[in-house]
Amino acid sequence: MNIIYEPKGRAREYSELACNIYMGCTHKCRYCFAPGCMRKTANEWHSKVTIRKNALTLFEKDAQFLCRNHDQRAILFSFLSDPYQCIEESEQLTHQALEIAMHYRLKTKVLTKGRARLIRRDLPLMRQMGTELGVTVCFANDTYRQDWEPDASPIDERLAILREAHDMGIFTWVSLEPVIMPEEALQVLVMLAPYVDLWKIGKINHFKEVEQQIDWRKFLREAMAILLSTKAKFYIKHDLLRYDDNANASS
Ligand code: SF4
Repeated sequence: MNIIYEPKGRAREYSELACNIYMGCTHKCRYCFAPGCMRKTANEWHSKVTIRKNALTLFEKDAQFLCRNHDQRAILFSFLSDPYQCIEESEQLTHQALEIAMHYRLKTKVLTKGRARLIRRDLPLMRQMGTELGVTVCFANDTYRQDWEPDASPIDERLAILREAHDMGIFTWVSLEPVIMPEEALQVLVMLAPYVDLWKIGKINHFKEVEQQIDWRKFLREAMAILLSTKAKFYIKHDLLRYDDNANASS
């Protein structure tokens, strides 16, 4: 395939297929792993967004291939960028890729920290084609979000879009990863519980000074207690699950 690919390693815990329709991401998350994957500096990766050459043509070719092979694995938009960059306002690449996927009857998932107004525009399309809408939420308090995800959307916008999507009958999921401040993460679980169908939870990695200060066993115990009290499904990523021998991957 050309632009749709099979993620490896930890990313595969999120999806078996993915597509990065944009290159670069201006959300500037401090924990972003994309520059390392792309052998770029954080400054290079986060300073501008480019459109992949012939992105939609390549996407359509891959979509045809998957359709011909009756491949029903969902395609995730996206890992190395955010599908709802500001540039989506004018370019609408994500929107058009979703339309192509719908034409070929492919399954899709979105993961974003983009602005609500951009995501909102695609909610009717997502509902029509059964796209699962995922939003990353690591903090309840927007001050911490500003520190770690400075140019991504504010927490209240993420909450609003999850609520709207859920009310429209769209399957909603939250990526609570990376957990950086356990108290904040637990608050997110409680705060968003009414609007979330599936949680994906993972610890912070590659930040030893933060990681080592956290009692992961305690966090996991407390998170599981909240999760088990809700109807939502959940998936604990392997890195975190190893802190609880009894934890299971689904409710
Ligand atoms: S939204 Fe994702 S790709 Fe963009 S900076 Fe944040 S972690 Fe990196």
